[in-house]
Order: sequence, then structure tokens, then C-alpha cells
Amino acid sequence: MTEEKKPTLKDCTLCGLCKSNCPVFRATKQETKGARARAILIKEDMLNEIILQCTLCASCKIECPEEIDLPEEIRKARQKLIESGKETQANKIMIDNIRKYGNPFGKQVAGKIPKELYCC
Ligand code: SF4
Ligand code: SF4
Repeated sequence: MTEEKKPTLKDCTLCGLCKSNCPVFRATKQETKGARARAILIKEDMLNEIILQCTLCASCKIECPEEIDLPEEIRKARQKLIESGKETQANKIMIDNIRKYGNPFGKQVAGKIPKELYCC
């Protein structure tokens, strides 16, 4: 029995269907910030902060006619970015907070909302 090959970004046709429900594209209306842009950047090994501007919501995976798991590709690309020291300041603070306080927001005070809500 042969194992079915999982589609990868090599199979990407750049059709752009993945961007239709990408919340970052919908919020910014910028092609360069949408799901297809991330697919292109990862394909070309041009990793930058656009890779970090993704919610990992997986809408792109649902829309992709080639059944490419773009969120998983984005997750791997983020790992490469961090390993090469190209993370954002907010990301560094978030990781420090998780190590120190066990959450991304920092020291918690009962009944108070944190002043800064760190994310990538
Ligand atoms: S929907 Fe799939 S094939 Fe089309 S651009 Fe996005 S990742 Fe590539
Ligand atoms: S996982 Fe990322 S790239 Fe894909 S639709 Fe969601 S925000 Fe956009």
C-alpha cells in the first residue's frame, strides 16, 4: 500500500483563494499582508515580520484547493525566524512573561486588566 503524499507549498498555484477569509487580509485590505503573501514568502524563503502577523486561524487551509496546510508552514517558518534571532520585541517580551509569570501578559493583579497585551 502506498502512502498518500501530503501537499506542500511546492504544489501552490498562487490562486489566492486562501486570502479570501484571511482575517489579516480582511482587516488590512493589503495583498502583502494576506495568506497568499505568506505562501509566497515561505516558498521564496524570504521570511520576515509578515510571517508573524498571522492568527493561525486556519481559514486558508480550509479554502485551499490544493489542500496545503499553510498554518503549519507558517508555524515552521516562525520557528526558523526565531532560531535566526529575527523575532519582534513584543514577541521577546511575551516569551519572557510566559517564562516568568506563566502567561503572555506579565504580572497579574486580581481585578485589573494588564496595560499591555503582548502578542507577536
Ligand atoms: S489557496 Fe492554496 S494554492 Fe492557492 S495561493 Fe493559497 S496556498 Fe497557494
Ligand atoms: S492562518 Fe494566518 S494566513 Fe491563514 S487565514 Fe489565518 S491569519 Fe491568514
